Amino acid sequence: MPRLVTRRREERGCGATGGPLFPGEPYCERTAGGRAAAARSPLPPRSAPSLPSPSHSLPSPPLPTPFPPPFPPSPSAAGGSHARRRRGGGGRAAVAAMVGPGALQRARRLCHWGPAVALAVVAVCSATAMADAALWYWPLDTAGGSVNFVMLLNWTVMILYNYFSAMFVGPGYVPLGWTPEKSQDCMYLQYCKVCQSYKAPRSHHCRKCNRCVMKMDHHCPWINNCCGYQNHASFTLFLLLAPLGCIHASFIFIMTMYTQLYNRISFGWSSVKIDMSAAKRDPHPIIPFGLSAFAASLFALGLALGTTIAVGMLFIIQMKVILTNKTSIESWIEEKAKDRIQYYQTGETFIFPYDMGSKWKNFRQVFTWSGIPEGDGLDWPVRDGCHQYSLTIEQLKQKADKRVRSVRYRAIEDYSGVCCPVTKGVKTFFTTPCTEEPRIALSKGDLILATRGLKHWMYGEKILISAADGGIRERGWFPRKCVEKYQYDSETDQPVDGEKKSK
Ligand SMILES: [Zn+2]
Ligand SMILES: [Zn+2]
Repeated sequence: MPRLVTRRREERGCGATGGPLFPGEPYCERTAGGRAAAARSPLPPRSAPSLPSPSHSLPSPPLPTPFPPPFPPSPSAAGGSHARRRRGGGGRAAVAAMVGPGALQRARRLCHWGPAVALAVVAVCSATAMADAALWYWPLDTAGGSVNFVMLLNWTVMILYNYFSAMFVGPGYVPLGWTPEKSQDCMYLQYCKVCQSYKAPRSHHCRKCNRCVMKMDHHCPWINNCCGYQNHASFTLFLLLAPLGCIHASFIFIMTMYTQLYNRISFGWSSVKIDMSAAKRDPHPIIPFGLSAFAASLFALGLALGTTIAVGMLFIIQMKVILTNKTSIESWIEEKAKDRIQYYQTGETFIFPYDMGSKWKNFRQVFTWSGIPEGDGLDWPVRDGCHQYSLTIEQLKQKADKRVRSVRYRAIEDYSGVCCPVTKGVKTFFTTPCTEEPRIALSKGDLILATRGLKHWMYGEKILISAADGGIRERGWFPRKCVEKYQYDSETDQPVDGEKKSK
């Protein structure tokens, strides 16, 4: 009987858990439909899957890395950077990260739409605010005007400093080939085939960075890097400073437009004479406040207000993450843990291990006077009643559970893997998932293990029949129209009703 490669690989406890990119659309783990499907499945639905035994958890022999990392590991970007940062201090490390060896590779982080848009917004808001202040609203020849200008400059410098720190210092990666100190602890951890290392507690493999990221929260397109252990503080400071700077800039834009328009209306649009009413002085026009300056101020005001709301909300989310010491991915794992326990009625209670029980203690793990977060990103202090591997064991249980409760499908149509297929119906075309997650091409007869789905799309992993397929996991979205449920005998891995299903 041909054993399925995917199953064998998963039994060893390898592969990425990954985080929920779309927490709103779980397929069968969390929905009643999924439960019904699991109940109909020939596998025993309500027996909690057992954990892989230690022997199954051992890593496979090293395989060639399937993809070269897009950002080759460099000393300051890899696991070794932490020790370096300890010696150099947060500030110097950030500067070193920007200009030190490997700067060119890190500069590639800039070549992405996220940093391009973010830096353009900073540039437009800062430059317009400074021009408005200096030329029309609050000229520099008064003490107040100078202080105002220096404050605007200060916001820009601090925002950019934290922005580039978050981007270039990076989240910190689990060293390639990492194993826990005690080899018997390997059985509590998942193995990452790409990094050929065990996944340290709280770390997750990021497909964009192509590395296992310490305390991964999410991959942020705006910094084109992950937010994790090392850059959590600078990232959060950036999220705080950007709205504060934007509020100051918005005030300047509004006051400039108000005073200038007020004067224009008072004296007539044809008047060339400009009054510096904000400074309550005799008019000394430097440059007339023309229509283009008005349009630029209005545009910058829109950008600044939009940024204040959007980034401010992100700041609130990150503060919640820091004060509870629970990343977005861990919140999702905790939710799934509750769901798993309720589903199997195991009577366990899941306690999230990293919340120190005090907001201040949690805060101090990220924000320290030295600018370097507590710990080494691999070992984490845990609360009473938990141990280092409480969360990773829960992740392994969920992984085993996912295997039991995911549903097999067979491709009945070819699918090329394009985002918006024109031949799969109008609804499929218009409801393509708004995500950067990949699509997988399907050929008639392919088997897929589906883990979640939308009305017209499904997400799953292709089941590779032979080792010749390269050992690369193919996961992604595909149209629901192209597949049908595949009934099979769990003992023999053979279809229940032969080949007629695929017709
Ligand atoms: Zn990895
Ligand atoms: Zn990433």
